[in-house]
Amino acid sequence: MPRKPFVGGNWKSNGTIDSAKELCRSLTSGSAAYRNKVDVVMCPIIPQMSLVSKFVRKSPLRVGAQNVSATGEGAFTGEVSAGQLKDSGIQWTLIGHSERRTKYGETDAVTADKIAQCQEAGVSVIFCIGELLEEREAGKTDEVNKRMMDAVYSKIKDWKKVVIAYEPVWAIGTGKVATPEQAQDAHAAIRKMISSAVSEEVAESVRILYGGSVTADNCKELIGKPDIDGFLVGGASLKPTFTDIVTACVPAIPLKKPKFMKIDGVEPAARGVNIYAKVVKAASKVEGSEDLMEVVVGDDTALVTLSVRDDRVKVCEVGKSLRIQNAHVAMIKGYIRVTVDKWAALKLAEADDEVASVNEKKDMSGVEYELTKN
Ligand code: PEP
Repeated sequence: MPRKPFVGGNWKSNGTIDSAKELCRSLTSGSAAYRNKVDVVMCPIIPQMSLVSKFVRKSPLRVGAQNVSATGEGAFTGEVSAGQLKDSGIQWTLIGHSERRTKYGETDAVTADKIAQCQEAGVSVIFCIGELLEEREAGKTDEVNKRMMDAVYSKIKDWKKVVIAYEPVWAIGTGKVATPEQAQDAHAAIRKMISSAVSEEVAESVRILYGGSVTADNCKELIGKPDIDGFLVGGASLKPTFTDIVTACVPAIPLKKPKFMKIDGVEPAARGVNIYAKVVKAASKVEGSEDLMEVVVGDDTALVTLSVRDDRVKVCEVGKSLRIQNAHVAMIKGYIRVTVDKWAALKLAEADDEVASVNEKKDMSGVEYELTKN
C-alpha cells in the first residue's frame, strides 16, 4: 500500500491576522490540484488556530498546533493540553521541534510524555527528530535519530496517529538543504530502526517527512526519493508557493506511451494528460509571449506542439525522450495545444520508456485529435 504524501506548514511565531487570512486565501484557491492526494496540515500560532480552521473548513487543509503540554488539564499556566486541542477541533500537533528542544530545553523524556498525552487524547502527532551540525560532522546522525526514536516507542499504541519529520537542525531556517541522497539515507535508516524496534508493517506504513529549508524548487528532487513521504516546511509555508510544494507531492500516475487518436468530439479543455514523446524540434519563442516557448514532440503516430515556460525547457533537447505528466490540453481555434504549466511535471524519460521513432509527417496541428488520457 503506497504511503499518502503529507506536507506540514510550521508558521512558527510569525504573522498577523491579516497575513494569515491572505495566506489561507491563496492556499485554498490552489487546493483542487492536491485534494484527496496529499494530507496538508498548517500550524499557525495559537490565537489564530480557530480563525484559520474556519477559513480552510471547506478545503482539504487541516490545522495543527506547534506545541502541546506534557501534562493534562489543571494548574499548568501557559500550557494547552492534548485533550483541549481535541476539544477545540485541532487534530494535529508538532512535538519535539528542534527549536523546542534547543531553545526551550525540551528533552527526550518530555517529548515522550507529550506523545503519551496525545495518544491518550487521540491527537495526531508530527514528531520531529534530527541531528545538530556537529553531530552530523561527527558521523552521529543515525545515533541521534535512534536516541530520539527510542525515547518514544513505548508511548505509541496507535501508529496511524504518528508522522515522523526528519529535520537536520543545520538545515532548519538556514537555506542549507540536505541533498536528496543525505535525506534518503537518513530516512531509510529511520525506517530500518522502526522495523527493528516495532515491526516491518509499521516501518513500511509510517510517513517520514523531510524538513529543513525546503522550497518549491528543491522539493521536486527530494520527493522523488523512495523513503521521503513529504515535507515539514517552515519559512516557505508562509508564502503562496507553499501550494507548489504540496502539488509536487501529488503521486505520479503510471504513464503510457503516447497514442494520438482521432475522436469524434474534442473536449474544449482537459487536464491530466500523460505522455512520453521525443523532442523533434528545438524550443522557439511563442510570438507575443514573454516567457512561453514552443517545443515540437512526437512518437511514431504523430507530432504535437507543447507550450512550456522558458525556465523549464532546458530538458527539451532534440532527440531526447520526455516524460510529461498532468499536462493541460485545449482545442484553440481548431488547433490542439498541450501546455506544460506549473501543475504539470516535465522530465527526461527513463531509459525503458524512450520513444523509439518519430513520424515527422503526421503533424496534429489543425486537426481534431486528442491525446489519449490514462
Ligand atoms: C521547520 O521549522 O520545521 C523548518 C523546516 O523550517 P525551514 O523550512 O524554514 O527550514
